[in-house]
Amino acid sequence: MQTITSIAEMQQRMLEARSAGQTVAFVPTMGFLHQGHLSLLEEGRQRGDLLVLSIFVNPTQFGQGEDFEDYPRDLRRDSELAQGAGVDIIFAPTAGEMYPKGYACYVDVEEITEVLCGASRPGHFRGVTTVVCKLFNIVQPHLALFGNKDFQQLAVIRRMVLDLDLPVEIVGMPIFREADGLAMSSRNVYLSRDQRRQALVLSKSLAKARRLVAEGDRDAEQIIALLAKMIAEEPDAHIDYIQICHQHSLQQQSLIDTDSVLLLAVRVGNTRLIDNGFLRPES
Ligand code: AMP
Repeated sequence: MQTITSIAEMQQRMLEARSAGQTVAFVPTMGFLHQGHLSLLEEGRQRGDLLVLSIFVNPTQFGQGEDFEDYPRDLRRDSELAQGAGVDIIFAPTAGEMYPKGYACYVDVEEITEVLCGASRPGHFRGVTTVVCKLFNIVQPHLALFGNKDFQQLAVIRRMVLDLDLPVEIVGMPIFREADGLAMSSRNVYLSRDQRRQALVLSKSLAKARRLVAEGDRDAEQIIALLAKMIAEEPDAHIDYIQICHQHSLQQQSLIDTDSVLLLAVRVGNTRLIDNGFLRPES
């Protein structure tokens, strides 16, 4: 396994891989790897001849007062996990390499970035699409794998790839969860023991919504009100949003149908957690 920090070296290495006819699979991350990331790498290993992992805590997707400085980082541990997952190349640039002095170019996806996390984190998706577009130009992968954990992010990236004709296949992967249901996230390390218990209210909300839908409930507003009540019972949990949206447009729905996704963002203490899932009524 090789670790590369220079964009020029990475582009040269990828040019060689492509010339040799290798299929390049790419998993972009911010590091501090967990099983969720490893599930993406496992799929990438199956699909590609060459597996590339990027580790970059991207400053442009963090807002003022967010956790950019505190975001957990451990390149040594990540390298060991990546080696075990069969990664061929880690691309780990510095912020200065990605955004040198005079940097002035951004990618902006409209509309679907204005709701949900886009509404609570202004500028977040502009940072995400900018860095992902740059990473695609640097790695030039045939396919790139993203988790459904960040449902809106995946929708935004699909939109960017479609609209800008980027020659990359986007592969969406299921949410990897802890045994008790908590969606894995690098940010889970911020949680105290008691907050970790309270954080289960996200996956429990999803389970409850699915139960209500299975029992025949189709009224989104009513389901959301019940979930809000349940979340409010946890002392450290504060709702950022609970919405039921169409899976593609991300517009809110009042009636649940086969395209309905429940999306949640809840702050537990100072830690902002997200989760989502399809509601899938029988008919
Ligand atoms: P991050 O390092 O948090 O930016 O995540 C990098 C990639 O891993 C993104 O495509 C995420 O959606 C994905 N990912 C993060 N957590 C999970 C999870 N629990 N299950 C599946 N994919 C995940």
